[in-house]
Amino acid sequence: MADAVLENSEKQNWTTVLYSLTLFGNGIEKYVNDKIDALHGTLNNQLHFITKHCVRSCSIYKPELSNWCNTCLQWKTAILNHHKNRNVITKQKFNWTCMDSAKWPLDPREVQKCFYPDWCFTARKIPNLTDVSVLIGCMINCTEFTKNIDHIRHIRNEVSHNFTVSDEERKRYCQTLLNVLKTPDVILYPEAQDAVKSITVLQQTCLKDIIEERLIKEQTLLELKARLFEQKPLIELTKQYVKEIVSITILVMAICLAVWFATEEYGGKFAFLIILLKYSA
Ligand SMILES: [Zn+2]
Repeated sequence: MADAVLENSEKQNWTTVLYSLTLFGNGIEKYVNDKIDALHGTLNNQLHFITKHCVRSCSIYKPELSNWCNTCLQWKTAILNHHKNRNVITKQKFNWTCMDSAKWPLDPREVQKCFYPDWCFTARKIPNLTDVSVLIGCMINCTEFTKNIDHIRHIRNEVSHNFTVSDEERKRYCQTLLNVLKTPDVILYPEAQDAVKSITVLQQTCLKDIIEERLIKEQTLLELKARLFEQKPLIELTKQYVKEIVSITILVMAICLAVWFATEEYGGKFAFLIILLKYSA
């Protein structure tokens, strides 16, 4: 199967672009967080006159905005002033229950949730902040980010709907990711520099050669192989096996105990215990 996949260049390219997007997310995450941290500092300065803390997490327990405390309302207004689509949000029924407004004055990550893309609020569980789609959404929605990031969202949408990517598209998509990572305020971050190195290799060399010649870090290579061959990463497989072994052991012990207690005579119990110890030794 592995050889067959390696002969399919379009599948290789698709995997390469998908993985490059993950690397892009790793490369840009700290930059995004730092920008939101700076915004959080600005908001705290703006709202320094608010001395009361929210004691009831209004966004979670008070669905109607009219019932929110003054602290949460002031923070909501101040945050939305930095949302590029605030007009749409105020017209629509925004799902505030996905975040805890009581934490807004203390936790920049809770403020960041206000800039998540729309789909996050209808997803079954809150997506991981490090998910590249979430990071891109934050950059698109928050006024702190002035870079045009729409073309990255376009790449992400393309690879989530089309499972084949041509050589030319692979090179172009990777270049788009590199261009953002190489902008002066992003490339300062070591994480961005690492991402640039790996994506450059993925852009210039086909995946088959990368795997055969081991051109990128071992861990990256393992993750790429897992994606390419649809294998679970080793750590997940180990966890799965340990879980299965524990379940089987518990089941066997339960059966043994049930048989032992079902044995009516003391002598029978004793004999069974001897057998059990003999076989477990
Ligand atoms: Zn409140």
